[in-house]
Amino acid sequence: LDPSAEKLTTTERDIEKVLRPQAFEDFTGQDKILANLRIFVQAARQRGESLDHVLLHGPPGLGKTTLSHIIANEMGVGIKITSGPVLDKPGDLAGLLTNLEPGDILFIDEIHRLSPLVEEYLYSAMEDFKIDIMLESGPNARSVQLSLNPFTLVGATTRSGLLTAPLRARFGINSRLEYYDAKLLTTIVLRSSAILNTPITDEGAYEIARRSRGTPRIANALLRRTRDFAQIKGNGSIDTAIAKYALNALNVDEHGLDEMDNKILLTIIEKFKGGPVGVKTIATAVGEDEGTIEEVYEPFLIQEGYLMRTSRGREATENAYKHLGIHRPGQLPT
Ligand code: ADP
Repeated sequence: LDPSAEKLTTTERDIEKVLRPQAFEDFTGQDKILANLRIFVQAARQRGESLDHVLLHGPPGLGKTTLSHIIANEMGVGIKITSGPVLDKPGDLAGLLTNLEPGDILFIDEIHRLSPLVEEYLYSAMEDFKIDIMLESGPNARSVQLSLNPFTLVGATTRSGLLTAPLRARFGINSRLEYYDAKLLTTIVLRSSAILNTPITDEGAYEIARRSRGTPRIANALLRRTRDFAQIKGNGSIDTAIAKYALNALNVDEHGLDEMDNKILLTIIEKFKGGPVGVKTIATAVGEDEGTIEEVYEPFLIQEGYLMRTSRGREATENAYKHLGIHRPGQLPT
């Protein structure tokens, strides 16, 4: 349900499902988060209680949805899936909440986009497993309190900064997912190719992995596209040469930056003298949504040292100039 997922076709969604790890054991990386979750799940199971509410945040495609399914599997409970923008009225939420079995997971994606009314309604449900519902309307309207089965709310967000303090405070477990390094992504690519029955060399997998913006969803998507190139232009199996060929054809550059990453850097450098410049201005100049720039592109560019966030706006770093082969004014040519 995040921006990159919305562009997926139905078949691609199905493939995503097939590639989705089902248990803690199949999940690669995020070691610390996983180690903690294992303990919390085991402890809750031993006490016969529902797991405390979990907030997962981090850029799209890092495994938030996957983890919530895994938590449900490991707790041995059901999971219901919804998202912030879909829950229009408190009534929508009440309908979901009253249908949960004891211990079930309610997964709310993009939880930062809940309407204030729905969010407020969620508070008592999270805290006391109770909600107020209105019976009848007009002069006879009265509210009654309804007890819910204990449940676990798993909230996912790409913008934890937009969460209100009262909502954030109601999550007992709060985990931030990090970008994956190339080694972890290689493991993920190898696992996915095995599931897709595509022969691949370790080096071929590494080539895809290191150019995947630290993101498993992108790694899996690039693997599928590379598989197409291998099938049509090669003998069906993936090695470094075919991976390089495919990734170049897909405009994924040597460092894994995609077209929009490069466009953002180029714009800051060429149109705004390297910055500082505000995100809104960048967004207009590159024709991309401001939120997407902030939650999808910027975190990776900052982590990789191409971009700096200062109080006056975004600035391109020395690295960005080097990467684009542009001479930085005021610097001696090297
Ligand atoms: P998010 O909810 O954070 O946007 P998802 O959980 O939907 O991300 O993950 C996107 C895809 O990436 C999933 O189909 C899944 O197969 C894959 N994936 C994510 N994290 C991992 C991981 N740690 N190991 C293996 N595959 C992963």
